[in-house]
Amino acid sequence: MSLDFKNELAERLIRYASIDSQSDEESATVPSSKIQYDMLYLLEKELKELNLIDVKITDYGTLIATIPGKIKGAAIGFLAHVDTAPQFNASNVKPRIIKNYDGSDIKFPDDENLILSPKEFSYLSEKIGHDIITASGKTLLGADDKAGIAIIMTAVNFLISKQNENHSEIRIAFTTDEEIGRGVHKNLPDDLNVKFAYTFDGGKVGEIDNETFSADSAEVLIKGVSIHPGDAKNEMVNAIHLASEIINNLPLKTMTPEVTEKREGFIHATDMIGNSSEMIIKFILRDFELKGLDEKKEILEELCKKIQVTEPRAKINIFFKRQYRNMRYWLDENRMPLEIAEKALHNKCIQPIKKPIRGGTDGSLLTEKGVPTPNIFTGMQNVHGPLEWVSTSDMALATEVMLEIIKLNSNLKN
Ligand SMILES: [Zn+2]
Repeated sequence: MSLDFKNELAERLIRYASIDSQSDEESATVPSSKIQYDMLYLLEKELKELNLIDVKITDYGTLIATIPGKIKGAAIGFLAHVDTAPQFNASNVKPRIIKNYDGSDIKFPDDENLILSPKEFSYLSEKIGHDIITASGKTLLGADDKAGIAIIMTAVNFLISKQNENHSEIRIAFTTDEEIGRGVHKNLPDDLNVKFAYTFDGGKVGEIDNETFSADSAEVLIKGVSIHPGDAKNEMVNAIHLASEIINNLPLKTMTPEVTEKREGFIHATDMIGNSSEMIIKFILRDFELKGLDEKKEILEELCKKIQVTEPRAKINIFFKRQYRNMRYWLDENRMPLEIAEKALHNKCIQPIKKPIRGGTDGSLLTEKGVPTPNIFTGMQNVHGPLEWVSTSDMALATEVMLEIIKLNSNLKN
């Protein structure tokens, strides 16, 4: 049976992508930007119209809803995030569809210098004959993760319209602030109340992500000695100079994001703020293994000590913060969510691609908090920038995979 979801997916993605719902790293509110509610309210209305039950927006800005099922047994969950990345312009997104793509370079109406070429992005050359959705050149598209939302909504609509309740309970969650690492509130695992879940937030067809980075952040605080520069001889200790020493002594050639790939971790200086009397340097530390993450913490600690020794009058302190952990540690213990996803791909004749994600997902924290949540492809490509694109045929395959997972889970003896 071949299901044709492409038109519905295109209509949904274009409609959702036109709504600005960018998250805001600088904001301390929950969610970080009010505009994310524009998506939450719209989806709340659509889920209610589809007669889902227990539809609610939590006080931490996650929309949760239930599709009741006839089959008793543990519920499973499906998640996507409503926010788009803060790294690129996301207001006034004008999505457009290129029907029956012919394999040529794609140009953009709002930026004539911009070209999306299959020569540069080989995955695009595999999509001849597909319908491709992009933005207009001035903004990102926001297929990350509105493709995921469109996929889940289309599958939900299909289940409801077929009135097929031969499945166990299904829980849907649309989170906010995933892009700024605040997608999973501490109450979400309990509110979701499922045995396991999947995020639809991955790239190429076939991708099932069972590994994310393990992540910590660090903050180095440098206090110098402040004095009028006119009287500074043998007295002043300039915190800026010490901060520069720390940066210059980092393993810049082997351990920063711009020189690492695949399974290599990194130390990334993200911010440097302050003045001659006091400086703060912020870092993020990433590795797939906890041992590697610890090594990176040690490197930073040792470096701070070394610079401290050169200037005892300064005070250099380092503070670490735990962020998230590689989901593999938990998914190795509970193989079922991955096995079901792999079987679903197999049944749809899709070759699984398992690769570690050099980042985190909402699933990283959920998995760690007891809800195993691998990540599944949506088709989205070149995310967080103006060359973002997605094929509606890829999204249709993801929709079929979601329905297949529901079927497989319902056939399990829970
Ligand atoms: Zn995403």
